[in-house]
Order: sequence, then structure tokens, then C-alpha cells
Amino acid sequence: VLRVTGLKKRFGPLEVLKGVDLTVERGEVMCIIGPSGSGKSTLLRSMNHLEEIDGGRVELDGELVGYRQHGHKYVTLPEKLLARQRTKMGMVFQSFNLFPHMTVLQNIVESPVGVLKQNPKEAKATAMALLAKVGLAEKAHYYPRQLSGGQQQRVAIARALAMKPRLMLFDEPTSALDPELVGEVLDVMKDLAKEGLTMVVVTHEMGFAREVADTVLFMDGGVVVERGHPHDVLLNPQMPRTQEFLSKVL
Ligand code: ATP
Ligand code: MG
Repeated sequence: VLRVTGLKKRFGPLEVLKGVDLTVERGEVMCIIGPSGSGKSTLLRSMNHLEEIDGGRVELDGELVGYRQHGHKYVTLPEKLLARQRTKMGMVFQSFNLFPHMTVLQNIVESPVGVLKQNPKEAKATAMALLAKVGLAEKAHYYPRQLSGGQQQRVAIARALAMKPRLMLFDEPTSALDPELVGEVLDVMKDLAKEGLTMVVVTHEMGFAREVADTVLFMDGGVVVERGHPHDVLLNPQMPRTQEFLSKVL
């Protein structure tokens, strides 16, 4: 489904991604782990063209993401087409990014109605079903500030799902949460994985990665150092850098 080939990204003189290749199949859950500054967030943001890239390509179901090819040159797509492409990948960040002046329900129906032009009544019904799925049916008319961090993050997940994305990108969705709230968000993500949602998850939650991931990918210094089944990468890592990282976090 999602294919990243030779992806390069620099910020000025700093080479952050030095040629990353990966493929995420439909229904696959890929967890990306690695030290701070290794380029995990930049990789995720590049998948969705929240960053211009300097080399390589990202394709979703065979379609080039962010660019149009003119002979040998790549031209950035116009904003309207970028916006349409982004609806195909749902993104959930560390900070929940809900609209503070809208209720939970309004937050969720905003884009389906505004961007996808869904019928408001249908969008509301879908939103209520999604809220039930994340365990928040009774909070539909609350404002974000009236919710805990874990509840807000579950709303953010429901909001992303309301766009019916082909895959979901999660960037450390639980790392801003108090420890006692982490489990409720991970449980929702486990349910989604079981339902066959395609997911790319940057996380420091090794238990989640071991239990849920089909593939774990360890990044360091802008390259993929090691990848494979969680039992191999997390329990029997081959590369010294992976071993060293895991000895610090496990
Ligand atoms: P963390 O685990 O701390 O979230 P990360 O693996 O997600 O780290 P990135 O956020 O991708 O790392 O950052 C990789 C490198 O790129 C870092 O050195 C960071 O300082 C740099 N960087 C990221 N975004 C920018 C930017 N917009 N401008 C300049 N440098 C940036
Ligand atoms: Mg990051």
C-alpha cells in the first residue's frame, strides 16, 4: 500500500533522512522505534507530505504523494490536490490538536462535512459510532478542555478515522499522557489493529510494539538500522546499535 523509496530529507546542512526504504502492506502494523533525533517524526511527516523531501519518493497505492512527475523533474502538487491526498492518511500527533472552541462531535464532523462534503446527518451518525468505538459516546457534547488527555487523544483518533483514511500514522500518541492514561489509548489502537487497519506507529511503548506490530523498524541517524518481526528485532536484535538502544529503554 505505502511504499517509501530512497527517501532523503535535510534541514539546511543537517541530513536527517539519508535514504529510507520501507513498504507497509494493507492491514500491516509497523512500529518505528529509535533514539531522539533519529528522524522518526520527519519520516512520518514526509509520508504525508507535511515536509518537502529532497530525494526518493513516497507512493500510496501506486500514486506519487506530494509531487507530479514532469519528465525527470518533480513538481510539488497544488495545495488543493495535496489536501485531497492528505485525507487518505490519518495522522495522530503527540499533542492532540483538537479545535478548542468546538465540541467533540463538531471536531469529528468538521472535515468529513467541510472537505469530503458528507451529508451532515450521516457524518454525525458516523461520528457517534466512532465515539462509541473509542469509548466516549457520552462525551459528544463536551469541549476538549473538559476531557482528560487520554480522552482527548481518543477523540483525535476518532476524528482521524472519520475521514476513512487508507492508513493511519501515529507519532508518539501516548508520550504526552500521564502514565495511568496511556493504556486506554493503546487499547483503542490495539482494537484498530485487530480490525485490520493499516498503521504506522512511532512509539516508545515496547510492550505495544511487541504485542501488536507485524514489523518493527529501528532507526538511528536517519537510516533504518534493523527491521523485522518484533520477536526478532526486540528480543533478539542483530545490530549493536539496536542492542544498545533496547538495553536503555527496556
Ligand atoms: P524524537 O524521538 O525526539 O521525537 P525524532 O526521531 O522524531 O526524535 P525528528 O523530529 O525527526 O526526530 O528530528 C530529526 C532531526 O531533525 C533532529 O536533529 C531535529 O533537530 C531536526 N529537525 C526536525 N525538524 C526540523 C526543522 N523543522 N528544522 C530544522 N531541524 C529540524
Ligand atoms: Mg519525534
